Amino acid sequence: MINLYRRTSDFKNYINGFDSHHIGLVPTMGNLHSGHLSLIKECLSNHEVTIVTIFVNPKQFSKGEDLDSYPRTLDQDLNLIGSLARIFTNKKIAVFAPSDPSQIYPDGFSSTISVEGNIAEILCAKSRPDHFKGVTTVVYKLFQLSKAGHAYFGQKDFQQFKILEKMTHDLELNINLTMMPIVREESGLALSSRNQYLTDDQRNKSLRLRKTINQVKDLITQNKVKEAQVFCQNLEKEDFEYLQIKNSKNLNQINDTTTDFVILGCLNIGLTRLIDNQMVNINA
Ligand code: AMP
Repeated sequence: MINLYRRTSDFKNYINGFDSHHIGLVPTMGNLHSGHLSLIKECLSNHEVTIVTIFVNPKQFSKGEDLDSYPRTLDQDLNLIGSLARIFTNKKIAVFAPSDPSQIYPDGFSSTISVEGNIAEILCAKSRPDHFKGVTTVVYKLFQLSKAGHAYFGQKDFQQFKILEKMTHDLELNINLTMMPIVREESGLALSSRNQYLTDDQRNKSLRLRKTINQVKDLITQNKVKEAQVFCQNLEKEDFEYLQIKNSKNLNQINDTTTDFVILGCLNIGLTRLIDNQMVNINA
């Protein structure tokens, strides 16, 4: 059985009955797919109480983005979570799906949690300058409300994960974070709620993102890192929003001693912005 909460006050009452270390959290914006479900399954396997939040957070959308058209499919999402509840019968699952943004940002709300510096200025932040502030603010609040001792995120949003890790470290929050692998379609395209905006033709074009990242990975594994960087720079000059190689531990610039890499790419296909990434360890 799933407990559904639409009001913050009811959700807080529910959470009050549990200890932090029994609670796992999976924050989402809903329109769940197998990527989200992999996070929820992992959480269910590890914790007595799993909290899934479903909230299309207005603060992480910039003007002109798809806040109004973002797919909101609560009934479908509850059915999917229900199918997991039928497998994990000995676990508790609660869904917190605020009925309205004012449940999270009541009248007069005026606080922002913001991670500063290089990590929050590069890659996606260049075209979405306030996006990560919106993410850290809502995730901080969800950490507080859920009292979770552990939270699960996807590698698909690699930069987001690294920023949340930094926030958790800097503010000494009592929560552990786990990054789960990217779940993909058979074609290799990373699952995303936004993939449904793609036409068949655009879907074919979108496969280039994954293929290109794999080409860069092959160059790095052959120890041709400089070549890989030039390859990326050239594609950035063409049509990639970004294609970059960073240190996977902290998203710093790579240098001659780097062994842990992450290749991050962003390609706009029509009006749909697709991101993907791949970690490479050259000692592996
Ligand atoms: P979203 O609903 O897009 O905010 O995503 C909620 C969580 O699911 C985030 O931690 C995402 O990184 C994660 N997620 C989204 N797509 C995938 C995917 N294809 N594989 C694994 N995790 C994902």
